[in-house]
This record gives sequence, C-alpha cells and structure tokens, in this order.
Amino acid sequence: MKKQRLVILGGGESGVGTALLGKAKGFEIFVSDKGIIKEKYKEVLIHNEIEWEEETHTESKILNADVVMKSPGIPDKAPLVKQIRENGIQVVSEIEFAAKYTNATIVGITGSNGKTTTASLTHHILTQELEVGLAGNIGDSFAKQILEKNYPNYVLEISSFQLDDIVDFKPYIAVITNITPDHLDRYNYEFENYIASKFRIALNQTKEDYLIYDADDQVILDWLDKHPVQSTLLPFSLVKKIENGAYLENDNIKITIDNNQIDMSTKDLALQGTHNIKNAMAASTVAHLLRIRKQTIRESLENFHGVEHRLENVLKINKVQYINDSKATNVNATYYALESMDAPTVWIVGGQDKGNNYQELYPFVNEKVKAIICLGVDNEKLLENFSSMVDVIIETQYMSEAVKIAYKLAEAGDNVLLSPACASFDLFENYEDRGRQFKDAVRNL
Ligand code: ADP
Repeated sequence: MKKQRLVILGGGESGVGTALLGKAKGFEIFVSDKGIIKEKYKEVLIHNEIEWEEETHTESKILNADVVMKSPGIPDKAPLVKQIRENGIQVVSEIEFAAKYTNATIVGITGSNGKTTTASLTHHILTQELEVGLAGNIGDSFAKQILEKNYPNYVLEISSFQLDDIVDFKPYIAVITNITPDHLDRYNYEFENYIASKFRIALNQTKEDYLIYDADDQVILDWLDKHPVQSTLLPFSLVKKIENGAYLENDNIKITIDNNQIDMSTKDLALQGTHNIKNAMAASTVAHLLRIRKQTIRESLENFHGVEHRLENVLKINKVQYINDSKATNVNATYYALESMDAPTVWIVGGQDKGNNYQELYPFVNEKVKAIICLGVDNEKLLENFSSMVDVIIETQYMSEAVKIAYKLAEAGDNVLLSPACASFDLFENYEDRGRQFKDAVRNL
C-alpha cells in the first residue's frame, strides 16, 4: 500500500516531534521550514533519514500531501496555508496528530495567562501518585513523548494556535484559566475569534468530560451563555460560592465534586498572589477529579515554588527583594504582579507594545510604585500614562543599567519588580533572555 504523505510546516520542537512520530507510524515525511532550522533539530532529521528543507517552501512537494501538520507559529493567513486548504488537504496541529496515537487520560490547559504555571502545578500534584507526562508548550513535544514514553496520563499546556487546528482532539479535563485580549494580530483583530479559539478546547467534549474555568471572568461567562458546551462544568471563583467546583471562604479553598469536598488554606500555598490562588484552585480541581489524595494535594501546593520568570524571587540585597516576572508579556499578567506587591516597588516595565491599555494598572501604580524604569526602544506610551503618577520615571535600553538604577532607588524593605507588560523582542531574544539578563544583572550588583 502506498504510504500516506505527511508534510510538516515548521522544523521546531513540535515539527520535529511530529516527524519522528509520523515516521514511526508509517508516514512518508517531508519537513519544510521557511526559516533556518536549529542545528539540534537538523541533526535529528538527518539521523532519522527524514527529508527536509529550510529557507524555502517547495510548493510542488507540499501540495501533494495527504495531511499537513502546521506548527503553531505559522499564521493561518499565510498564502501557502490558504493554498493547502484550497487544495482540500487537511491541516492539523501537533496536538491533534499526536493524540491519535495514545489512549492517555488528557488534561488540557489553556487561557491567556497562567497556562504554564497551572500546567506545571497540576503536573506536580498528579505526579505524586500517577504516571503523568507534561507536554504541549512545555519541554519536549507531545508527539515525541508519545513515541518515547506514552504515559497513561498527560497534562498539556495548549495555546490558542494549537487549538485552531484540532479536529477530534478531546481532553477528558479541560481548563480555561482566563481570557484577556492577546495575539489579536493572528485573529483579524477580533477578540471574538480569539475567545472562540480558546473554547475549542471543549469542542469535542461530552458530558463525561469536564471543563474547569474561572467563573469570575466575565468574558468566559458571557461566551458560555451564548455558546453552551456539552462538558460537565466545574467553575472556580474567589468571590461566589460554587456548589460543584471550587471557591474561597475565609482563606480556605473549598472544592466539591459530587458531594466530595476538599479544603485547604491559602496561607499554606507556596505560590503567592491572587492569580496563584486561582491557579491552585484549577490545578487542585483537576487533582481532586483524578482522585489524588487530599493530603497529597495539600502538601504538593505547599512545596511547589513556581516556574522560572513568573514572579520569581531572585535575591534579597540590602533587604530589597528582586523579583523576575519577565513572562508578564501583557497588561493582565502585570496587573496580578503589581497586585501582589506587598511593599513600595521600583517597577521595571516596557518592551514591544501590543496595543496595551494601562488604565487598569493606575490604582496599583498610585498605591505601590515609587519609581518606574522604562526598558524599551519606544517608551512613549509608558511616559504618557505614568509620568504624572510617580516622582521618578527613567528610560534606558540596557538591562544592566535598569537594574543599577533600581538598586540606587530602592530602600530597605522595598521590592524591585521586572514585570514588562510587553513583548521582549525589541531589545531581547525572548522573555527568557530578558529574565536571565535581569537575574545576571541582579547577581552582579
Ligand atoms: P502562560 O503560559 O499562559 O503565558 P504563565 O504561567 O507563564 O502563563 O504566566 C505568565 C504571566 O502571567 C506571569 O507573569 C504570571 O505571573 C502571570 N500569571 C500567572 N497566572 C496568572 C493568572 N491566573 N492570571 C493572570 N496572570 C497570571
């Protein structure tokens, strides 16, 4: 029988993972990347005798595919992708492709902010009692893991781009952490399109499956009102009592599923900040559903100290706490960072603007921020918004300088917070590079 031809657009982590899995499953593979493929991935492709190309897309080789796996970084409106669809070729995401080759119980976590934190925390709890893998936007691709490990359970961090190209993919448990405007350039600048994309996580769910979501998020509530899902709903809330799901009562998180309740004190959570209470609620609801022991859940929440670049405590120098929140690439993430500041704060902010509206930060800036250091190529918007609000607002384009200025401005008991509310690409390779440069600069003080 003639082999099915799988063309993979993008030779990164998900592309190469899919290539390996596809080859093992008997597909004829062709990987095509318009950019340059990283050396480590090239080596894998060559070693596995997989055909590939870079810096070009050879249409004749692509358009005779039976199925195309499109990496999440490639926009749907790319002319080639349009052409592929016009030729009636199915386009799928890596998650869709890989999920066909496993019977694992899948927890899929999406949302605008908090995906990595919630996925890592969920994995941390589950892994105490279950064999469980962590994949998606984190670490080794899902496809590669299915090939090499195929755990009976997976926690997947799933971006909206990955959800755009699912067809049959169905997590047993879906989580939507929150929805705020982000990546709108990929969604024709229509927030509705972006919301619809996030909700695709529940697209194929039935009432035997679960959807866990933030019931304080009006965007989510409005959408569910207009577009009901089949899933069994398990909301979580900080402000209202929830019969089936999670809520907060006097510093206690209470989670009820089918009359079985677990409670735990927020005071015992290792991760601080309101947003992390929500993340803990979501993760613990998953764990409770999967019948992890209550004591295990409590202990896991006490000893999970977070993920790098997310409100990460770096060092205390002269009684000043330095905090790296480089992953705050939008205003909403920075909102929670500023909210959780418990001392006067020197705030390092800025980068590539995403159409930011800073208004929701005003109360926190008025209340907690003593100085602002703008770290971006273009700081005009920050200056416009905040100049009248703080006594000191300084511009720089160098991380080491930003940190030195912060050092001079901060007094014992203060915080120095890097929470940019912007993308990093104007001055840095990515948010990790920005966070690492911050930490290096702090350590060099
Ligand atoms: P994602 O993977 O969705 O980008 P992360 O867990 O990496 O989310 O966190 C990104 C940023 O958002 C960090 O600055 C983090 O402190 C902040 N954050 C984490 N959880 C939440 C939440 N539930 N709501 C809002 N912001 C959050």
